[in-house]
Amino acid sequence: MNAGNLQKKLTFKQKVVSKVEKFNRKHKRLSFLGIAYALSMIFCYNVLFYFYRNAKRFTSLACIVLFFATSSSFAYPTMSVGISFATQVNTPVNDSLSSEAVSDTVISDTVVTESDARLAVIEDVDTSLIEEAKDSENPDVAEAEHLDPQKQASLDDILNATGDDSYEEEDSTVDTESGTTEFNSDDWKLILVNKQHPIPDDYEFHLGTISGNLRCDERIITPLLDMMKAARKDGVSLIICSPYRDMDRQTMLFNNKVKRYMEGGMSYMDAFNLASQAVTVPGASEHQIGLAIDIISDGYSSLDEGFGNTAAGKWLAANSYKYGFILRYPKGKEDITSIEFEPWHFRYVGVDAATFISENDICLEEFWSIYVK
Ligand SMILES: [Zn+2]
Repeated sequence: MNAGNLQKKLTFKQKVVSKVEKFNRKHKRLSFLGIAYALSMIFCYNVLFYFYRNAKRFTSLACIVLFFATSSSFAYPTMSVGISFATQVNTPVNDSLSSEAVSDTVISDTVVTESDARLAVIEDVDTSLIEEAKDSENPDVAEAEHLDPQKQASLDDILNATGDDSYEEEDSTVDTESGTTEFNSDDWKLILVNKQHPIPDDYEFHLGTISGNLRCDERIITPLLDMMKAARKDGVSLIICSPYRDMDRQTMLFNNKVKRYMEGGMSYMDAFNLASQAVTVPGASEHQIGLAIDIISDGYSSLDEGFGNTAAGKWLAANSYKYGFILRYPKGKEDITSIEFEPWHFRYVGVDAATFISENDICLEEFWSIYVK
C-alpha cells in the first residue's frame, strides 16, 4: 500500500473515531451504539478498500468467468445433457417395465423434448441437411432399393425362378385359434431388434433365396409365399423388395450419411445423431436378420404412407397376421417404436404372436414389455 492510500485510510478512521467520540460524550448511555457503528464502518471500509486495491485482478477474473459462461464450447455440454445417441430417445421397452410404465404421454414428451433439443444443438450448421434428415425419417426410404427392378420380385417372378414344384400352390389353412398367450423370449421368431436392442453378436440364421438376389431367413420363405398366393387369390398383387440387407451394406449406408453431414460442418456426434434418424444404425435393422420384408404393389411403388391406402396395403394390414407377419411400425405407435408409420414394412413373428399382436392392437415393443417371458 502506498503512502497516499495509507493516509486516506487513517484519515477515514480518524473521522469515524472522532464522530463516535462526540456521539458518546453526548449520549453516554448509548455509547455501545457508537462503538458498533465505528466497528462496522471500519470493517466495510476495509472490505471495499481491499476490492479497490485489487480492482484489476477481480476485473480479469470476472471477464474470464463471463467468457466461459457465454462461449458455445462451455454451454454445449450443458445443453446436450441427456441427448447422447438417439438410443436414449425411447426406453420404454425394458424387461423390467410393467405395462403401466409405458405411458404414451410420458414417452411422447420425452421424444419431442429430446429431438427438439438435438436439432437445437445443431441448428447452426447447414439446415438443408437437417431438413433432409427430417424428410427421410423412414429408414426404409433411404435404404431400400425399391425402385430397382432387379431388387424386386412378384409372385410370378418367384415361382418362375424356383420352378412351380418348389412352392406348390396349396390351400394353406392357418390356425389362428390357438389363443396362446405364453411367449418365450428364446423364440427366434420373436427377437426384438431396434436401436435399444441391437442384433446379438452370436445371432445365427440361414439365408434362403426368394428369387434372384433377394434373400431372407429361409424359415420365412414358405409363409411369405403362402401370403403372396392368398393375396393373389383376392386379386392383390404383392411385390417384395429389400428383404435381407447385410451388415456391410447397412454400415456403408450409415457411414456415408455421417460423412455427408460432417462435410456440411457437423461434429461427428451431431452427424451420428442425425444420420441415425435417416438410416438405421448398423446392427439395429430387422432387415439384417432376414425377418423383415418391404412389400409394395405393381400399382404403387413408393415407400410412403400412401401405400397404406392401396388395395395391397389394406389387404396386408388386414390379413398378414394369418401368415405370421405383422405391420412392424404401425400408425399411432411412433412414439414407442421411434420409427414413422411404415405400411410397407412387415416382420415375421409367427402366426401365434402375429395374431395376438394384431388382436390387441399393440406393437412389438409393447408385446415384449408385457407378454414375452
Ligand atoms: Zn423395411
